[in-house]
Amino acid sequence: MAKLQAIRGMNDILPEQSLSWQYLERIFQGVVRRFGYQEIRFPVLEQTELFKRSIGEVTDIVEKEMYSFDDRNGDNLSLRPEGTAGCVRAADQHGLLYNQQQRLWYAGPMFRHERPQQGRYRQFHQFGVEAFGMAGPDIDAEILQLAASLWQDLGLTDYLSLEINNIGSAEDRQRYAAELTVFLQSKVEQLDDDARKRMHSNPLRVLDSKNPAVQEALQGCPQLGDFVSSESVAHYQQLQAMLEAAEIAFTENPRLVRGLDYYNYCVYEWTTESLGAQGAVCGGGRYDGLVEMLGGKTTLAAGFAIGIERLVLMLESLHKIPDSALHPVDVYLLVVGDKLAAQGLQLAQQIRSHYPQLGVVAHCGGGKYKRQLKRAFSGGARLAVVLERDEEGSEPLQSLKIRRLDDSGESETVPIDEIIPKLGEFL
Ligand code: AMP
Repeated sequence: MAKLQAIRGMNDILPEQSLSWQYLERIFQGVVRRFGYQEIRFPVLEQTELFKRSIGEVTDIVEKEMYSFDDRNGDNLSLRPEGTAGCVRAADQHGLLYNQQQRLWYAGPMFRHERPQQGRYRQFHQFGVEAFGMAGPDIDAEILQLAASLWQDLGLTDYLSLEINNIGSAEDRQRYAAELTVFLQSKVEQLDDDARKRMHSNPLRVLDSKNPAVQEALQGCPQLGDFVSSESVAHYQQLQAMLEAAEIAFTENPRLVRGLDYYNYCVYEWTTESLGAQGAVCGGGRYDGLVEMLGGKTTLAAGFAIGIERLVLMLESLHKIPDSALHPVDVYLLVVGDKLAAQGLQLAQQIRSHYPQLGVVAHCGGGKYKRQLKRAFSGGARLAVVLERDEEGSEPLQSLKIRRLDDSGESETVPIDEIIPKLGEFL
């Protein structure tokens, strides 16, 4: 019978790769803890309406990319394409947003039916942070500082750059969109099908078209910056001053509008050149209107999402994952010969209880010394402890051997009751 395969664009993360993921997760969790953010978990499946209302009906995500279906009760549900909508729904439903300030984070899988390629998948994972109840721009600066701290801890600061833009309020954008549509109509001959369609439904999305012909047609178009309110400008200027004070480098990109409708005031994106086409690693901004759009009270809000796969790709290709994070096993215990299995398990347990930070594997299933040693090497262990019956065959064993599994091959035979301090010397 033919074997079944994973769905296109949905990856299995195998044990070796999981080590990189776990490393990244540890560092991320350390950073959010240091900033006082708390974890929130919410379902991967929500009512489709939640995403339609929050992300916007005329967006790539809602128009073409959601995994939506009717369940057995006939309710229309979707796998979450991003985290903010579900986070807001959950926080509001449980009263976390009522006259309160919250600093939250989440992590987990998201689903978008995009064309898969390196760095772009149909199931991918995000870390996100969301802050509620704070007017900013200090909280916006704090969130960017949090991202910058993450890059710092991962050794990626030099490979990421921050672009920011002021996109004003929803009303500002409506006035601007009307003007932009008039402009685009005058250039309709130079636009591609996508831009022509968007020109009426969501003209701002034409601005970040990747088609050079469309970009050419946009020369001289009205600028969003001329339409934004003075409050929005003040917020943006203060944010810039705070970023400068925090020594976070940024550039302004007036074309940055982002793919989701719910943002207002400042939006931003961290990108890298080390990933090829899929260079966006982290995107976010303010979204003060979203809670109300979802039926809650008006709530100040801001946050970002980071693509985990893209960060892992960066860390791996730039060799930024410390060696120690990539070794699941520190000590491999070879158990050579019959009747030593019980003693082997016991010894492994003794080592674990003295050195709880170590990964200790006791060989199971018997076999010759050479085969077991090969396992120790292939498992990536640093040290082998060899439990082998000596010539006289005395039992239980009185001594064993510790061997370094590096080029030195250094080894020493030690009395069994000295194994714990001796291991300490070898580590
Ligand atoms: P967005 O929610 O579109 O702003 O995306 C936030 C981040 O998630 C992006 O900067 C990417 O790093 C990541 N991301 C978005 N879509 C995908 C995808 N299809 N595959 C992998 N990562 C993605």
